[in-house]
Amino acid sequence: MQRIDDLLRSGTTLSFEFFPPKTDDGREAFETAFDDLAQLTPTFTSVTYGALGSTRSQTEELVNGLNAKHEFPTMPHLTCIGHTREELVELIASYRDAGVKNILALAGDPPTDGSDAGDFVYADELIALIRETGDFAVGVAAFPEVHPRSITREEDRERLAAKLELADFGMTQFFWDARHYADLVEELSVLGNTTPLIPGVMPMVSVPGTRRMTAMNGATIPAALDARMAAVDGDPEATRALGIDVAVELSAELLEHGVPGLHLYTMNRAASVREVTDRLGLRAPA
Ligand code: FAD
Repeated sequence: MQRIDDLLRSGTTLSFEFFPPKTDDGREAFETAFDDLAQLTPTFTSVTYGALGSTRSQTEELVNGLNAKHEFPTMPHLTCIGHTREELVELIASYRDAGVKNILALAGDPPTDGSDAGDFVYADELIALIRETGDFAVGVAAFPEVHPRSITREEDRERLAAKLELADFGMTQFFWDARHYADLVEELSVLGNTTPLIPGVMPMVSVPGTRRMTAMNGATIPAALDARMAAVDGDPEATRALGIDVAVELSAELLEHGVPGLHLYTMNRAASVREVTDRLGLRAPA
């Protein structure tokens, strides 16, 4: 299996993110979307991990199945909050023994119900545990508009630069203005960062959903985009078309900026992502 740090050294990557489905219908949609997008020969794909380990076995089962079936690697996301050290070692060793070569190391979010937060608090502790347990390419998360739990922008950038130093690559949360990515890269470079940072782009499919997720991630919607969103709100087809236009505009600007790769949030749907990549000419349509 190929390592993502090696793939990044060979050229601009194209990757797709999926989430573990919760229902039988969702499972069917996942499989249809994955098979469709696999035809675009992505550089790699990734599967998210449920908060506090809620989809632990599903992520592992999906990742192992997809890696057995496809040439390109599928990377599991892994969050450490809510887990004991032993649980994490067991899961990481199981990935290692299955031949998985890449892990996205995340803190996750603290439980809001007062339940036990486990043995870890920050992603950098998980990176150390992964390094102790196996030989993986380790990715980490970055927030162009600052992580919602960060107290100051300066501290956010310093912590992120220190985390990237321990990792092999970073991947960003979605954002709606390429300037946020350019500012992040610039601020990290002043702090000496040389670890590649792949921007994440989300083709929106719902106006209320996009507004909610953007607010949750501490990101902002520029006024001009906000007006375009208001004009299509309530019209699913017009929203999807806007999502494609915006993702193409943003991705084109990012590629012009010379990004190391492009990571598309698929939300387990193929159509928008396929149209975005076709319009950008990133892969020949199958
Ligand atoms: P950290 O890097 O640990 O940072 C969290 C906060 O703590 C920041 O404010 C940081 O500045 C601060 N901090 C970091 N290290 C230290 C330290 N040593 N001392 C003091 N403060 C510190 N969530 C899921 O549940 N499942 C997923 O699959 C998932 N996938 C994601 C994929 C991507 C690409 C991104 C961008 C996010 C993803 N998330 C996922 C969300 C992520 O788990 C949350 O944003 C979480 O709140 C923080 O994770 P982190 O790894 O960025 O945390």
